[in-house]
Amino acid sequence: MVYGCDLGNGQRLFLDNAGNQTLITLASSSAGQQQQASQGIQTGSWIAAPEVFRMAGSIVVKLRTAQGEHFIQVQGSSVNVLSSAPALSNAQQMQMQQVNSPTSEPMKPMEPMKPMEPMQPMDMGNMQMNFKPMEMKMGNMSMQMGIPTAPPAPPSTRQFCSQCGVAVQPTDRFCSSCGHQLGA
Ligand SMILES: [Zn+2]
Repeated sequence: MVYGCDLGNGQRLFLDNAGNQTLITLASSSAGQQQQASQGIQTGSWIAAPEVFRMAGSIVVKLRTAQGEHFIQVQGSSVNVLSSAPALSNAQQMQMQQVNSPTSEPMKPMEPMKPMEPMQPMDMGNMQMNFKPMEMKMGNMSMQMGIPTAPPAPPSTRQFCSQCGVAVQPTDRFCSSCGHQLGA
């Protein structure tokens, strides 16, 4: 739990206890400018809510922890641990508020999702993936999905014209060279 305290002049003090550390954050805002400085001080775990006192020219934070009482002086932007308890009889105790976080900014709206790029065949080292049809190769292992089980194409049977010996297509009916009727 973070405790916040308005020090006036646009300056706010935040106190947080994390483990044995007390985190003191001074946040000031003037002319739209936000400034924030944090300092961690070894104090031990709080056993009571921190108290803040306004004294002449400075702010004193009183912390009660398992190790005893700690007094921390905040003067301007400097934070000092006091070695002895200051005279707080004339000091004005300030109102503390429990806040969630020193930087409780409103959540930024989520960025709209980028449209998915069409899937491209990937090649990562010895791993290959194709998506159409699904095919994966990893080293010596290969995996295929969705491939139509077409019979293997018959080995090409090269033919030659029996008349002139020129190579002809199996589908040709006549030799393109001499006009001899093929397959007759
Ligand atoms: Zn021929």
